[in-house]
Amino acid sequence: MQIRFWGTRGSLPAPLTAADVRAKLVAALTEVQGRSLETPAAVEAFVAGLPFSIRGTFGGDSSCVELIDGENTNHVLCDMGSGARRYGVEMLRRHGPDNPQTYHVFMSHTHWDHIMGFPMFPPAYLPGNRIIIHGCHAEIAGAFHRQHGAPSFPVEFSQLQAAIEFVVLKPDTTTEIAGYQVTPLLQRHSGDSYGYRFEKNGKCVVYSTDSEHRTEQSEEAERFARFFNNADLVIFDAMYSLAEATSVKEDWGHSSNVIGVELCQMANAKRLCLFHHEPTYSDSQIEDVLHKTRRLEEITRAETPLEIITAYDGLTVTL
Ligand SMILES: [Zn+2]
Ligand SMILES: [Zn+2]
Repeated sequence: MQIRFWGTRGSLPAPLTAADVRAKLVAALTEVQGRSLETPAAVEAFVAGLPFSIRGTFGGDSSCVELIDGENTNHVLCDMGSGARRYGVEMLRRHGPDNPQTYHVFMSHTHWDHIMGFPMFPPAYLPGNRIIIHGCHAEIAGAFHRQHGAPSFPVEFSQLQAAIEFVVLKPDTTTEIAGYQVTPLLQRHSGDSYGYRFEKNGKCVVYSTDSEHRTEQSEEAERFARFFNNADLVIFDAMYSLAEATSVKEDWGHSSNVIGVELCQMANAKRLCLFHHEPTYSDSQIEDVLHKTRRLEEITRAETPLEIITAYDGLTVTL
């Protein structure tokens, strides 16, 4: 199983500015410091050695994550944030306009940053495509319809050419969908959100974004530890620092890297992926959170290590 991240920002897309790119160039050239970069190979090796925050970017698109499984011809996605546009363009490039595809989408909730990519999702405009949108909110179809048409968008939902279906799932109930055993779980968030546990062929990934955790509630922590139990990868809402999540931004519906480490350690998960990055954070701030989280994991490690990664637009993880 592979997981590909198409959008990893929280709340709002956050593209780089010209000043951001310039600062990366200045930082990179400052690092050259008398080195010889006379061949393309030497340049490549130098760039590869730079910190990710200088040579790359965590990206600016909002939540959209793809599950890839070689045996499955159906496409599986979590959330339809602005990252869904680039994903849809890639699907069209790969399959062409005359080769209908089936897409299964699992929606954490219908806050705007999680549905805003759908009007710009090219497969929705092509007849023959089938898009099945799964979620636990009864009003999920209404949220998708509302963002199409006047006064928000030039195309009405009814004008979309693909066959679009909405399926309401039951939390805490495992269903086989597109070859995966899928279990949704209710999460603490304004208007509720749901995490999804996907299992197939002995591999497990949990998508758990837009989810606030109360550190003082051990029963709730145990509920999530069971949900994350032995997962190969937990994609976790780590939007805030612990200090923010438990003080000024309490009740804002998001969590922190520290709580992610605690829950994954309780659950004996193998890998934690920090996700739903705060839109005001620069690449170096996100990288700094990653380094601090790795240090925290080292000093709190019990027996088996927990690998910590941070999501960026374009990252592929193989389980
Ligand atoms: Zn969100
Ligand atoms: Zn939300």
